[in-house]
Amino acid sequence: MSDLTVKHAILDNNPVTIEIRNGIFTSIQPEKENRIKITNEIPVLDAGWKAVLPAFYNTHTHAGMSLLRGYADDKELYDWLNNYIWPLEAKLKAEDIYVGTRLAASEMIRSGTVFFNDMYWHPRETIRAAESLGMRACVGQAILDAFDSEQGERQFKDAEELLQDRHTFSSKITLNISPHAMYTVRKEGLQRAADFAADYDIPVHIHLSESQKEVADCLKEHGCRPVEWLEQCGVFKARVIAVHGIHVTDRELDIMASHDVVIAHNPSSNHKLVSGVFPYHRYKKSGIKITLGTDGSSSNNNLSMMESMKMTALNAKMASGDPKECPAEEAWYLATEAGAKTFRINGGKIEAGAVADFILVNTDHPALVPGYSLISDMVYSADSSVIDTVVCGGDILMRDRKIPDEKEIIEEARDAARRLMRNEV
Ligand SMILES: [Zn+2]
Repeated sequence: MSDLTVKHAILDNNPVTIEIRNGIFTSIQPEKENRIKITNEIPVLDAGWKAVLPAFYNTHTHAGMSLLRGYADDKELYDWLNNYIWPLEAKLKAEDIYVGTRLAASEMIRSGTVFFNDMYWHPRETIRAAESLGMRACVGQAILDAFDSEQGERQFKDAEELLQDRHTFSSKITLNISPHAMYTVRKEGLQRAADFAADYDIPVHIHLSESQKEVADCLKEHGCRPVEWLEQCGVFKARVIAVHGIHVTDRELDIMASHDVVIAHNPSSNHKLVSGVFPYHRYKKSGIKITLGTDGSSSNNNLSMMESMKMTALNAKMASGDPKECPAEEAWYLATEAGAKTFRINGGKIEAGAVADFILVNTDHPALVPGYSLISDMVYSADSSVIDTVVCGGDILMRDRKIPDEKEIIEEARDAARRLMRNEV
């Protein structure tokens, strides 16, 4: 977390100077009346009259999967998982996760994201990769026992050890526990994950009601629907970030609302896998908090929160039949402040006291002209090429569209993918 002074920035159409101390916005002043002292001791970022906006918070990723981008597309979810993704993932080594996550982090920074909530193997490598590029992340041990109690035991032991080491990580890193889904984790594993999360006050991060098959199998096996099953397993005693939540009844929405479950909506992944249409308007009516994610790069296939925002707004309109559903300002809020709040980060806004996470946007880009509403243009018109600079906690992660080490990150990712494909044959 750094000190920084930002001059010649545009906030809400007004020129401002911004003071950041120890990673927090301490003062934002109109440039004319500026009383912020520019000294030699504090680095100065000249924004060149670019617009300052909050950065994005991605509430669901599998960052290490970036190495699998484009490997298996256009499949049905279970065929994709069982016959392509899981067999290849079994060959991934810890170092591959580091390399894949650095690739993902570089892509996320380029598209204005400063935080990701991750579920994957080798979480220490994910943490190391996020730290190496200065990103915030919530990372946890994945629990996928495949109904094997010994495997589950090993995963919980790793989770415990990771928690014990939490003070050794950067202050931008927090932890979660990530039971993969109700169809890959035993009842005991789900219960234990919830106890573990409640004991350590960390979130449970779990896929939920993604496909019709998941619901049908749950009804057959347990005589109830997935949300009801999680309630029976006591999962909601913890803070829960549920991912997808497409096939839900009103009763399930009521259960989630009563337990303050937060939903991570991943529209690109849902469309690509034809998981179903997310019932945005029903979630909103039920009062459940909605946040946005991208999912991993092999089911999306990118990590752009700008694309997620647009897809969310369009999907919400189509699902409800109402073009007024999820207006631009609302989609923007979901991708920024709603995500930050969920992870107890005072971010997603440009104001004194908030964490200094922001992007500088080039308003001379054709996609932002004529510029009646910057937020509307950011949601519906622009892509991430309008983003010039990304700052996280006062640390500059990208400047003039350049990320230090990116060339090396790309080379390492290509090498790792080549190794992976050779091993496969
Ligand atoms: Zn996922």
